Amino acid sequence: MLHVTKSFLPELKTYTKYLEKIWKTSHLTNDGPLVLELEAKLAEFLEVDNFYFVSNGTIALQLVIKALELNGEIITTPFSYCATSNSIIWENCQPIFADISPSSLTVESNNIKSKITNNSQAILTTHVYGNAGDLELQEQLAKEANLPLIFDGAHAFGVKYKGQSIFNYGDISTCSFHATKIFHTIEGGAVMTNNAKLASKIKELRSFGHKGDEYFSAGINGKNSEFHAAMGLANFEHFGEIKNHRKWASEYYDQHLNASIETIKFNPLIEKNYSYYPILFSSENYLLEVISNLNKHQIYPRRYFYPSLNTLKFIDYQHCPISEDIAARILCLPLSAEINVSELSKVCQIINQKSH
Ligand SMILES: *Cc1c(COP(=O)(O)O)cnc(C)c1O
Repeated sequence: MLHVTKSFLPELKTYTKYLEKIWKTSHLTNDGPLVLELEAKLAEFLEVDNFYFVSNGTIALQLVIKALELNGEIITTPFSYCATSNSIIWENCQPIFADISPSSLTVESNNIKSKITNNSQAILTTHVYGNAGDLELQEQLAKEANLPLIFDGAHAFGVKYKGQSIFNYGDISTCSFHATKIFHTIEGGAVMTNNAKLASKIKELRSFGHKGDEYFSAGINGKNSEFHAAMGLANFEHFGEIKNHRKWASEYYDQHLNASIETIKFNPLIEKNYSYYPILFSSENYLLEVISNLNKHQIYPRRYFYPSLNTLKFIDYQHCPISEDIAARILCLPLSAEINVSELSKVCQIINQKSH
């Protein structure tokens, strides 16, 4: 059986090396030593001033919306995982969808511009598949409109843009460390910002909005535990190998899939993390036929991201033709730190059979 991903697990003894520390201190959660160690290591690796480890990537987005006190329209992408728009709705804001670029699959800067009105409160887009559009142009647009620029960087752990961490762009970014992501802590996520004021607000809201006996605001429990931090520290020791293996597998697909299979163009300013391997079929029927052929061989790719978020039945429909078209035709192929040549070759062979 081959799924779209297989969660990386370190050797059990690497994980227990960290667990032993927990048993020594009995400190299980609430800013314990392993959480602090993970936060310090990742802040350095991701080149950000402030890094907060939180319970998951969805809470990360909700904390950001809360910290910025947003309560109206947020311009966002229709092409992402539903957590992006759900967190906007959960925080009583309205997603205003700006259509994507057919090449980068991230929101087109001109479309952001055309959606800005007096009711806009923020821009929240996704570095989908770890790709990005013109981030400097988006920063400029946000600045001119005086709107905070938020990035859902759930796919972008370790990605660089123009040689520096992608999390240094915009006002604030989030990441997800869910078990299906390239770097995981089982469940987990992060909020990152270089804005000190915003950072202290995130810290406060993550911990019920109080510090000791002083109560500041109606916060939430967005903390994460020592056990999750332990998994993060153990996995982080292997991040280089994980990324290299996925790079190798991605290059295998590049070389062995028929030339008629369309792949996604990455911004040349990006240093990739190889978090996903999306391919684009010429029609949805063709895609469905290939999925069915792969399933016959116990190979289970995923329709990431389908459907386009603007078409979800609990959201008022907004027209985004490019996102709807791409969502219907895109497929993420199996990719993991363990995938081997025979698996890759089988996937390519089945897909190539059908291509013309
Ligand atoms: C996975 C994901 C999230 C949510 O992260 P969780 O840690 O699962 O809550 C948010 N946005 C995008 C784009 C994702 O892929």
